[in-house]
Amino acid sequence: MDKKTVYIIDVTNRDGVQTSRILLPKLAKTMLNVYLDEMGIYQSEVGFPTLKHEVNYINANLKLFEKGVMKSIHLEGWCRALVEDVDLCFKNCPKIKHLNISASTSDILIRGKFMGKKTFSDIVKQMHSAAKRAKELGVETLGVNAEDASRTEPDKLVEFILAGKEAGADRFRYCDTLGAEDPITMYERIKYLSEKTKFPIEMHCHNDLGMAEAVSVAGARGAIESGIDTYINTTLNGYGERAGNADLVSTLLALTFSSCFKEAIPLQPSVNLKMAWKIAKYASYAFGIPIAINQPGVGANAFAHESGIHADGALKDRRNYELYDPEDVGRGQTELVDTGRVITTGAYGGVKGFRHVFDNLGIHFSTDDDARDILELVQYANIHTQKPLTDDELRFIAGNPEEVRMILRTGL
Ligand SMILES: [Zn+2]
Repeated sequence: MDKKTVYIIDVTNRDGVQTSRILLPKLAKTMLNVYLDEMGIYQSEVGFPTLKHEVNYINANLKLFEKGVMKSIHLEGWCRALVEDVDLCFKNCPKIKHLNISASTSDILIRGKFMGKKTFSDIVKQMHSAAKRAKELGVETLGVNAEDASRTEPDKLVEFILAGKEAGADRFRYCDTLGAEDPITMYERIKYLSEKTKFPIEMHCHNDLGMAEAVSVAGARGAIESGIDTYINTTLNGYGERAGNADLVSTLLALTFSSCFKEAIPLQPSVNLKMAWKIAKYASYAFGIPIAINQPGVGANAFAHESGIHADGALKDRRNYELYDPEDVGRGQTELVDTGRVITTGAYGGVKGFRHVFDNLGIHFSTDDDARDILELVQYANIHTQKPLTDDELRFIAGNPEEVRMILRTGL
């Protein structure tokens, strides 16, 4: 039997942003999609096509993909597993090609949310109809999500999966919505579901017990051992509801360097771990949340040694105290901070300063008039993000003015 593969679906732009007290501007969501594509990630869950303020951003991102600004990533929308939600997704975003539709499957959620008005079979029927509708409307890849799968009896999940499969879905998402799983139980449950259904499974794990990455990779192993492809849902820096989701970089490190998983679970070969530093730092900047000093791979102390025995050992041979190198996660360069005169451009900038900044980025405008259109976009983008625009954001705005104009329109 061929060894199957684990693919990464990053859900920062959906689960990450729906978190209390944190927010991401649509331009930053777009930059994350671009970076995730550059990193070779299989899919980005871009947001909610049913939500009015997401629509222009999602359509602009679909255009960017058509234009080749993003090359291979699947831009996927999330909605409830209801026919009316699927219809609304297509009304708002007719070119959407990838969807995940979600339904609550545990007794406790069905009882607690629907108060006796719906049964498990009603939920399965609704999901089946919604999945069929999505496929009729031209969805190329479709995931059917069981919310609170970890508190749902396995045989009910089998029924849910087989109904999704019959309706034409491509994957099943196992949502450990409350972060209640442990790696051993997850491995066993996923193995059971994989063997019973032979259907690709996504791991969607939360970090309430501090085990989101461990549970995700253990589940992925159960699926791979049963001969099916598998997917792990991640977020940048683990940002997500309550204690967060499985962190993208930590998950990739586990799959690449852990003594067991690197052999047992083949990671999709397109992933470039060297993008880790850049994307994690950008997410931290855009969300306005610092990276923890001890964050795996990208924390300030991830390659720092001070105690006598460790520093001596690391100096003699880095492998004495480091499992992988800073370069493996794209670190090791000195980052310069300008402490002298600096010209920036933004909300209140004029054309001369703007042209100076862009000249330094290697983007030249022949006349002031040529520059003014992009300057106006930069001004609005800066108001939109409420922080200094990064060099990559400035380059992106200059290269894609039409799409940026769409992204900045709220739809109100
Ligand atoms: Zn979630």
